[in-house]
Amino acid sequence: MKHFSRICVLFALTGLLQQCSYSQNNNSATKTAKMDTTKKNNPVYSTTDTSKVNMSEEEWKKVLPAEVFYIARQKGTERPWTSKFENFKEVGTYYCAACGNALFKSDTKFESGCGWPSFYEPISKGSIIYTPDHTHGMERTEVQCGRCKAHLGHVFDDGPPPTGLRYCINGVILDFAKAKDAEKNYKEKPQQ
Ligand SMILES: [Zn+2]
Repeated sequence: MKHFSRICVLFALTGLLQQCSYSQNNNSATKTAKMDTTKKNNPVYSTTDTSKVNMSEEEWKKVLPAEVFYIARQKGTERPWTSKFENFKEVGTYYCAACGNALFKSDTKFESGCGWPSFYEPISKGSIIYTPDHTHGMERTEVQCGRCKAHLGHVFDDGPPPTGLRYCINGVILDFAKAKDAEKNYKEKPQQ
């Protein structure tokens, strides 16, 4: 009888563990969908302030969602074909998810087939910083946010005209605002 109850406990535990891992998956999905709400904890996030951001890694860790911190500050790479922006065709502007700096316009986005959102031109010269990257036995050029130095991805010279460049960007580090929503916000601002 004692043995039987032990088996029961074991079964119950296995069930619990399965439930745990299941609910963890659910949580991470909710976290991604609610990315915007976490910005309230991020004191440097602004789509209008262009002053440079200089924050310690410790502080970044506190204000960024884990997946954004991994890409932005630890130069991580998201798995290919996982970004909602990969086949995204809405008209608007893409911003740095770490600081709100405007990075790309939707009309410079193209389908590169590489598995990550791709653009042929940044929104302005200063919106991006270029750094040589010799890691993983490759000669590549890393692209970082011009305002907060978040790692965005890499730029390659096999893109379409007019620039011939392909900015291969991690979707996790991008925020998107529809052109119409931006216009609406502008109109809703109190007139002076
Ligand atoms: Zn940034």
